[in-house]
Amino acid sequence: MTRRGARLAQEDSSGETAIAHLRLEDLVGGRGNRGPTRRDEGHPRRIALSGHDVDYRLVRARRQSIGMQIDLSGLTVRAPRWVTIREIEEALSERADWVVSTLAEWRGRRRDVLPREWKSGARILYAGRELALAMYPARKKTITADLFHLTVVHPSPQDERQIATFVGRWLKDQALRLLEPQVVAFASRVTTTPPPLKLSNARGEWGSCTHRGHIRLNWRLVQLPPELATYIVAHEIAHLIEMNHSPRFWALVETLFPGHAAARRALDEWTALLEA
Ligand SMILES: [Zn+2]
Repeated sequence: MTRRGARLAQEDSSGETAIAHLRLEDLVGGRGNRGPTRRDEGHPRRIALSGHDVDYRLVRARRQSIGMQIDLSGLTVRAPRWVTIREIEEALSERADWVVSTLAEWRGRRRDVLPREWKSGARILYAGRELALAMYPARKKTITADLFHLTVVHPSPQDERQIATFVGRWLKDQALRLLEPQVVAFASRVTTTPPPLKLSNARGEWGSCTHRGHIRLNWRLVQLPPELATYIVAHEIAHLIEMNHSPRFWALVETLFPGHAAARRALDEWTALLEA
């Protein structure tokens, strides 16, 4: 299982009443509007700044100086190839106060994962990015995501309840399109038959694997940075073989998802999503 703390884990049984049954044949077409994948974006590193352990991704880029960016997925440092790690760490230390306070600010925002008011400009989390809702009236309903906006076209854009339902269904649909092919791909590496998959609404956990080999994945995974969602899938698939958290289990996870330790750490920052 991939759970958050024990307190919420106790609420699992009540959360699981809202499980949607998913069928593989429902999945036609591509993976839809996914956010940009960041899997190839840099190497995870850690540095102590002002007494805090700060995780960041280091991206070697064609540029002249060291750049730092903080968003919902954390701190990203871009630097030319010729700059040493020591120089990068010096640059981070010089801006330690800014880094630590900005990260804290973003962490605070993470609770706003679904809009309180379904109006244009409201914030919604999708694929690890905070997008602004943009509503337009039209007869045909559509939703598209780009880097900044979740554009909702709907006959009644003022009707918040209808919009909430429409977007909620779309998120679950996107979750399925994102996760199901990954379940099939990872499963094919450890077993001959793909496991039954259900989308879950469980409050306490991102995913689970039952003793009968049924995989449940939280639809909110679609709101995470895509590589973290992929880690959860790899984790649950590994439970098909090892129903425990033994060293053998973690070794299998590492085989399926190299560098899983960094994903596990990063995931801690996103647990607020499970309360949404
Ligand atoms: Zn587990």
